[in-house]
Amino acid sequence: METDTIAAIATAMAASGIGIIRISGEDAVEIADRVFYAKNGIALKDSLSHTIHYGYIKDENEIIDEVIVLLMKAPNSYTREDTVEIDCHGGVLVMQKILEVVVRHGARPAEPGEFTKRAFLNGRIDLTQAESVIDIINSKNEFALKSSVQQLRGAVRDQIQILRDQIIHETAFIESAIDDPEHYSLDDYADHLLQIISEVRKKIQYLVDTSDQGRVLKEGINTVIVGKPNVGKSSLLNVLAGSERAIVTEVAGTTRDVLEEQINLNGILLNMIDTAGIRKTDDIVEKIGVDKAKEYLNLADLVLYVIDSSKALGPEDYEIAQMIRGKNVIVLMNKSDLEPNITAEDLSEIAERIILISAKEGDGIEALTQMIQTMFLHGKISLNDEVIITNIRHKNALLKALESLNLVDVSIQNQMPEDFYSIDLMNAYQALGEIIGESVEDDLADEIFSKFCMGK
Ligand code: GDP
Repeated sequence: METDTIAAIATAMAASGIGIIRISGEDAVEIADRVFYAKNGIALKDSLSHTIHYGYIKDENEIIDEVIVLLMKAPNSYTREDTVEIDCHGGVLVMQKILEVVVRHGARPAEPGEFTKRAFLNGRIDLTQAESVIDIINSKNEFALKSSVQQLRGAVRDQIQILRDQIIHETAFIESAIDDPEHYSLDDYADHLLQIISEVRKKIQYLVDTSDQGRVLKEGINTVIVGKPNVGKSSLLNVLAGSERAIVTEVAGTTRDVLEEQINLNGILLNMIDTAGIRKTDDIVEKIGVDKAKEYLNLADLVLYVIDSSKALGPEDYEIAQMIRGKNVIVLMNKSDLEPNITAEDLSEIAERIILISAKEGDGIEALTQMIQTMFLHGKISLNDEVIITNIRHKNALLKALESLNLVDVSIQNQMPEDFYSIDLMNAYQALGEIIGESVEDDLADEIFSKFCMGK
């Protein structure tokens, strides 16, 4: 276990109100005392934990900044180690100078995520909680934040622990019965085990099933806007984004390349890709856009097919329809403020979901929002206390556990000897353990923590 003392700037490297330099480890207090001069003359080592101190950071005799210092002694700190936080003025140079002085007096510059890694290694949090920290920092919408906070509070860990307890209980029983057949009988045990396995599998499958929703909540819905030139795709994007990012123009095919933009639609994140008008074209520049459009269609979770409802459908419309067949499509009959030339019936062949909108007037956007919520979140938009798997690593480990449990099932069906069961049960137990960090390899932990920001 590493116990050397680490330090880092924990706030953004940009001019701001305050900056924080964090020090953690065995010598944190001693090092801080070497550079901090308290106004009241009392050393930090003689002070109580969880107290705030006012004074100066000095380098030799030069004052670098006027600061306050927060003292948190082990084990009641983020890392469970002695921790000192120096709140200084939020200038890049001043933060760098303080860090430099702290390092010169005995601390080592921390790796990204090293404070959280220590919290994990010192047993204050499990791996799911550590991962939730980065998720909280990266949250771009309410749902992502809420589920990350829930994970930080241990919701995922608790669910996993319950499943692990059930599995280990059965393994222990099998082992005991094999060792001590006089006191433990395995008669009729297979049926009992089948039932337990089926319960546990159901619970795991349920968690796996939440992960689709979890991905949508956390990462957003990859959305592609398609349609002929001039139907109002850019206008729609602008309405949704509330900005002027896309150039709206009356000349056909000016939106040449693809535009990408993240839009927060009532808490749901849409990763919007606006493509060049899809149509046959000789224009090389525009052609690039069209190929890109096709490429993006393959990645799309949702296709918004915009049609100008004031104009009759043309052959191109059917070509586009062909291209997006089998996708999650919403047809948007745009320009509903103009005299219609298409009816919803005309489109019934093309798609089942049709909404009338006017990008110009902003009509129909509410209906679109609701439809997207129904499609991707099954209409449920509140998270309640339901545990949702948002992390692909967790999902993969759950699938691995499921696979092992399926093997137990097969062994039982084939009337294999009982010690076969326990091997696969233990594999399932371990796969679940990977989620909470009970049995992860060092390099996996390193990889997880390396994604963190500096000072976290
Ligand atoms: P794109 O080529 O599909 O991106 O289409 P644009 O967004 O550039 O719009 C083409 C033209 O249609 C522009 O002149 C827009 O002002 C106009 N337009 C877009 N949406 C509407 C709408 O809902 N109603 C009306 N009347 N005009 C619209």
